[in-house]
Amino acid sequence: MSHLIIKQINKSFGNHAVLKNLSLTVNDGEFVSILGPSGSGKSTLFRLIGGISLPDNGDIYLNEVKINGRRGSISYMPQSPALLPWRNILKNVVLGAELQGPYDTKIALQMIERAGLKGYEHHYPHELSGGMQQRVSFIRALLSPQKFMCLDEPFSALDEFTRLDMQKWLMDVWSEYRRSILFVTHNIEEAIFLSDRIIILSERPATVKHEFVIPFPRPRHEGLLLTEEFLH
Ligand code: ADP
Ligand code: MG
Repeated sequence: MSHLIIKQINKSFGNHAVLKNLSLTVNDGEFVSILGPSGSGKSTLFRLIGGISLPDNGDIYLNEVKINGRRGSISYMPQSPALLPWRNILKNVVLGAELQGPYDTKIALQMIERAGLKGYEHHYPHELSGGMQQRVSFIRALLSPQKFMCLDEPFSALDEFTRLDMQKWLMDVWSEYRRSILFVTHNIEEAIFLSDRIIILSERPATVKHEFVIPFPRPRHEGLLLTEEFLH
């Protein structure tokens, strides 16, 4: 089970209010996307859920347990890849999994291949492009065993075909393991294709402005069909 409740959180930096009375819920196995203007506080919200910083007030519960300031409760992919420069790609992708317990190198290698990075296992982050580093960070989040994932603009640096292929991979993983996902994107099509529900934040200080439930079955994704033809 993996169920997130955010209750009335506020976060300011000095006298600069970023999040205001923000409440939201992600149900078990649900895929929720957050959209909102740049600077509205999406990444700030993710850092609070990831336990990297603390809300000024309000609470965050994962499966009824308060996780304010508790790192490692969720699998978290930050907006910038944050790879460790002294670790090779293989050692970078297993970082999240390693902190949680034993892990399977074979699965890590398969995922590196699935992400189109075969041959880069023993390279170092500075040898990879921004889009490749973003995929390393994505694999790291997928390999982390926590059932709740927060992905902050995970595909923003990818070319169109790679992005669609990674969306498809995420859908496959999500439907196979029914992880709960909170996802930030600026791409409305991506949000509609991937999500059960879309939350739109207001301008700063951010609060929930609109919520839409996406009907099932999902709208057809023409770009994805095109990508499948292109790749296979
Ligand atoms: P988004 O991800 O929606 O684009 P962010 O959460 O990154 O927005 O930032 C929201 C606002 O909070 C911005 O105005 C940003 O400058 C400010 N902010 C974020 N982190 C800090 C920090 N550590 N110190 C001061 N201001 C911050
Ligand atoms: Mg951001």
